[in-house]
Amino acid sequence: MFAPTVIEKQQILFNAPGPTRQIALTVDDGFNAIAVAGYIDFAKRTNIPLSFAPNGMYQKVWNPHADAVRSLIEAGRVTMVNHTWSHFSIRTLSDSALRTEVERNDDWIERTFGVSTRPWFRPPYGEYSERSRAILAELGYSRILMWNGTVGDSRLGVTADELVAAARESLQPGAIVLGHANQQVVVNLYGELERIIAQRALVPVTISSMFEPSNLAHLAG
Ligand SMILES: [Zn+2]
Repeated sequence: MFAPTVIEKQQILFNAPGPTRQIALTVDDGFNAIAVAGYIDFAKRTNIPLSFAPNGMYQKVWNPHADAVRSLIEAGRVTMVNHTWSHFSIRTLSDSALRTEVERNDDWIERTFGVSTRPWFRPPYGEYSERSRAILAELGYSRILMWNGTVGDSRLGVTADELVAAARESLQPGAIVLGHANQQVVVNLYGELERIIAQRALVPVTISSMFEPSNLAHLAG
């Protein structure tokens, strides 16, 4: 049914492809308007690139920032990632429901921010199956974006101190760091992210920069 090469070429990515000072900060969902506005302002104010994985179900939160996000994308400072429209675990969806969830979200992002999310997909809850991987590959998603660090904001009610402690632990060279725009408390994190990146001489990049062909060349052969 699927060409085997399509699946074989699909990569599941947890961290940078080689020794590097690069770090990729990724921001998912978008449940909280203040957190979404805060992250976009952070990207504009600092030169720290971000990768956004929004759900279309939160379009009322994201759409007012369309122009700002478009500018950041055009400047190469934001990469957009598909995270499905409704944030179900994709293992629980039928084939047709998964296709609809992915295509609907990409249609919204392309219409609103001017770019397709392909080839980037981040599975809600980090959950996927061989069957869902095959469907994603067929739809053009050859890069499954996982993570190896988190700012610890998946849990509701997390405190600012806990966020900062998790960020200090997770912002290591080569890391892909998971964050969410779901709780207002994350606005307390922005200054600390800047400090850690500067103190550790990290080089923040979008995930498309982290995995551009020149960075992968040394892995060939
Ligand atoms: Zn999510």
